[in-house]
Amino acid sequence: MDSAVEKLFYFLDNKTADLQQQSGLSYLESLQQTLEKWLDGEAAPTGAYGKEEIRKAVQLTVLKGMKEHVQPHHQMTPDSIGLLISYFAELFIKAESFTVLDPAAGTGNLLLTVMNYLDGRTAGTAVEIDELLIRLAAATAELTDQPVTFYRQDALGPLLVDPADAIVADLPVGYYPDEETAAGYRLTSSEGMPYAHHLFIEQSLRHTKEGGYLFLVIPQNLFESAEAQNLHRFLKDSAHIQAVLQLPEAMVKNSAFAKSVLILQKAGDGVKAPREVLLARVPNLSNKTAMAKFFQQTDEWFRSSKQ
Ligand code: SAM
Repeated sequence: MDSAVEKLFYFLDNKTADLQQQSGLSYLESLQQTLEKWLDGEAAPTGAYGKEEIRKAVQLTVLKGMKEHVQPHHQMTPDSIGLLISYFAELFIKAESFTVLDPAAGTGNLLLTVMNYLDGRTAGTAVEIDELLIRLAAATAELTDQPVTFYRQDALGPLLVDPADAIVADLPVGYYPDEETAAGYRLTSSEGMPYAHHLFIEQSLRHTKEGGYLFLVIPQNLFESAEAQNLHRFLKDSAHIQAVLQLPEAMVKNSAFAKSVLILQKAGDGVKAPREVLLARVPNLSNKTAMAKFFQQTDEWFRSSKQ
């Protein structure tokens, strides 16, 4: 571990554990208060820390807290996926500055990984239903000095957010129980409860500008489910699939399900489909030669299919 990250992690962990003992709150609630105290200047670490050092140290403490309270639906997006998405966002988006929306922001780790990677070029919006997670995300955004506007709400309900240039999201997977809200979606199910992850794709596209890009972490079997045909038809009408990247197991080791990254471009006037969709398996990050080859192939695909 980077020594500055380690130092900061121990600072946050000690303060959090002390607070937890005094207050009887959970570790994550105590961490949230520790971050607030840091922001207020009440208990700040000594020394200066960079944005990535702060994000990584907070991430490690959140992961420790999540072990205490296993929450399978709130899992933080690991750095490896965040960095892969950052690389693709930089490849696809050439604008000097742009807006990015994460409608399922959780702890903010994915959004802030991307914003730190493209530092200074992005303004963010985050939506999250869980009160504690969004507070943790808001404190981390402030500590890392990233401009993010937060909305605590059901992201599938009416969303008063301007369309963004880009969406990044690690989609919550499962059923969505609010039938009334789901009825307003083309991707609602004809029988039984609809899939939340399908509705999230539709909602994300509604909140993307024409020609904007979406970088979505999806279950690998997305196009094989009972509702897949409906999803295919919807995507054909509203977007151009750019890439489907199958993630190696090691990248999603905390998850029971295999994942991929789906990259879409919202359809619009003058927006052309790529000559070919990039279908690839992402190698293990530890295999440097395979990763270098993967990035080289991606660059070649981009030059031949997108330009
Ligand atoms: N990218 C996040 C991070 O790095 O922490 C993790 C996202 S996690 C896989 C999915 C998130 O979606 C969870 O935090 C969950 O609370 C949130 N979520 C689930 N249903 C939601 C809804 N209807 N509206 C808003 N957020 C929702």
